[in-house]
Amino acid sequence: MHFKALGGCGEIGANSYYLDVDGTGILLDAGVHPKKYGRESLPMIDALRRKEIHAILISHCHIDHLGALPMILKYFPNPRIFMTAPSFPISMRMLHNTVTVMERIKEEKGITDYPLYTHEEIDMIVPLFQSVQYDSPFRIPSANGHRIYEPEAVFMDAGHILGSAGILIRGKERTIFYTGDTCLHDQTVIKGAVYPEEKVDILILENTLCSSEEAEKKKRGNEVLRLAAEIRKVIERGGSVLIPTFALGRTQEILAILERLRKRKRIPDVPIMVSGMGKVFSKLYDRFALMTRRKDPDLLFKNIETKMLGPKVPFNKTLFKDPCIVVATSGMLNEKTPANILAQVMVEDPRHGIFFVGYLDEDTRGFQLLTAGQGEEVLFDELRPPKLKNCDVRSFRFSAHSHRGEILQVVQELNPKKVILVHGEKGSIGWTAEMIREMDPKIDVIVPEAGTEITL
Ligand SMILES: [Zn+2]
Ligand SMILES: [Zn+2]
Repeated sequence: MHFKALGGCGEIGANSYYLDVDGTGILLDAGVHPKKYGRESLPMIDALRRKEIHAILISHCHIDHLGALPMILKYFPNPRIFMTAPSFPISMRMLHNTVTVMERIKEEKGITDYPLYTHEEIDMIVPLFQSVQYDSPFRIPSANGHRIYEPEAVFMDAGHILGSAGILIRGKERTIFYTGDTCLHDQTVIKGAVYPEEKVDILILENTLCSSEEAEKKKRGNEVLRLAAEIRKVIERGGSVLIPTFALGRTQEILAILERLRKRKRIPDVPIMVSGMGKVFSKLYDRFALMTRRKDPDLLFKNIETKMLGPKVPFNKTLFKDPCIVVATSGMLNEKTPANILAQVMVEDPRHGIFFVGYLDEDTRGFQLLTAGQGEEVLFDELRPPKLKNCDVRSFRFSAHSHRGEILQVVQELNPKKVILVHGEKGSIGWTAEMIREMDPKIDVIVPEAGTEITL
């Protein structure tokens, strides 16, 4: 058995991991780096030279796990692509939207590599896709059908977003479990992750939040109450609230929280605006409401009254004439996104609030805004002058990832012989490595480097 990471080593981005399981070539995820542009954002496809890929298994449809798929298929035309049933329509939306974003960035930033693939190329790869049910084992077929041994795989609910899965692969003698992005605890809409009950020999483990002591301590219920109190203050002084989020997953969790608070009269009944992609994914959450594990299967987004942030809605001060709550992408305030543009409109007015609700990478515009002092200059876009931070900027913890205590709990319960640490900043990976070695010195902790093959 061999393992080679093509990205996602000591960072979160371009997550893609090659596995040779008893002669069958498997790629786990095919993501792009969310903070890089052009070919630089891709995983190390070169490291797959002379390899065969029989199947690509997609854990979930966030772009850092999916965005490079059409590009990888330009080098490997035949692999079958497996994902869960909800992930299939989500992946189509996500990939087509990525083309649109790449085309826009090509114009705005002059990235000549873009688009890395086209709408037509996405349509052409659809026949390779196969959706599978959760908890239903399937064989990974070799491309030519001559292989004698075919490993078996199972997708298990990862509790991260709609369609997300941890992936169990049963080889001839050993079993591998890849957590994908995993969330042990329940969120507001979806239930926490399910893990294998059988023996796992090798665990490929995500580490997003493992450097954060704060994430472990914050209680979700308290964070909801704190968010409600801060929203109330902003609205009562005539301001509006911007909640930057990812369109997929976080938007739906936040809408569900806001709806509950609105019903209980813990926040004023003001309009809630949502960006277009957020609405699209909310519809898919509704479509799969009865087929996936939900906290409340009766909660449907079509019943939550929201307005769409679209081309007809001006992205200027008139939007905030009367108080409202805007839930818009991107969660880290990436340049040229609706949240970034709206934040520039709001930031100099002390009545408004910008409330982050997820993980912020240190080199993002969102992190820079959050950590800047009150009254200091903040740069939102390198092509525009900085703005003064006068409004109320806060962060709340509604994570869709396991905190570090939960990550260690997973290691303890699965008790693997080897753990490969991925999808986390160096500090996170270092913390987990040290804790596992302390917890059980018999576990072989592997911190992979991108492009280096490891024999397992
Ligand atoms: Zn994710
Ligand atoms: Zn991820």
